[in-house]
Amino acid sequence: MLDGKIWVDSEPGRGSVFYFTLPYNPDSKETKNVKAEESDVFEKRDVRKLNILIAEDDEPSEELLSIMLESISQKVFKSKTGKETIEICRNNPDIDLVLMDIQMPEINGLEATRQIRKFNKDVIIIAQTAFALSGDSEKAVEAGCNAHISKPISKSKLLLMIQKYCM
Ligand code: MN
Repeated sequence: MLDGKIWVDSEPGRGSVFYFTLPYNPDSKETKNVKAEESDVFEKRDVRKLNILIAEDDEPSEELLSIMLESISQKVFKSKTGKETIEICRNNPDIDLVLMDIQMPEINGLEATRQIRKFNKDVIIIAQTAFALSGDSEKAVEAGCNAHISKPISKSKLLLMIQKYCM
């Protein structure tokens, strides 16, 4: 899916070595386009920075989102379960945006969204839905999310979506 290669060298009784490659082309046309898009979105305007709650139980995904949002975030909150997500929203009414993972332990993202909507109708909630699970997007909107974005998340798509809903 990432356009790399993966292979293995294996010798019975000795062991195996696993290899993989990931393409990295910082100067490709695509990267430049994305950069141009982002600067259109954020750098030309003196935009207000946001308080963002990243609700995500998978740590690498959470770290990736934090990096993607670095340029537009003022304060970043993090939660790993639906229950935590609801509590943080309740205690911090100044949160502008919640990036809500749907698959989380205890209380999932859909139920967490329903609970949050009982006391906060204004916060923007963007659901992060699993690409392969059809029906997730509709369910997210029904539960009270403003929008949904499918994983793996594209930075430019996410930033454009945030601009549309939060700025
Ligand atoms: Mn998850």
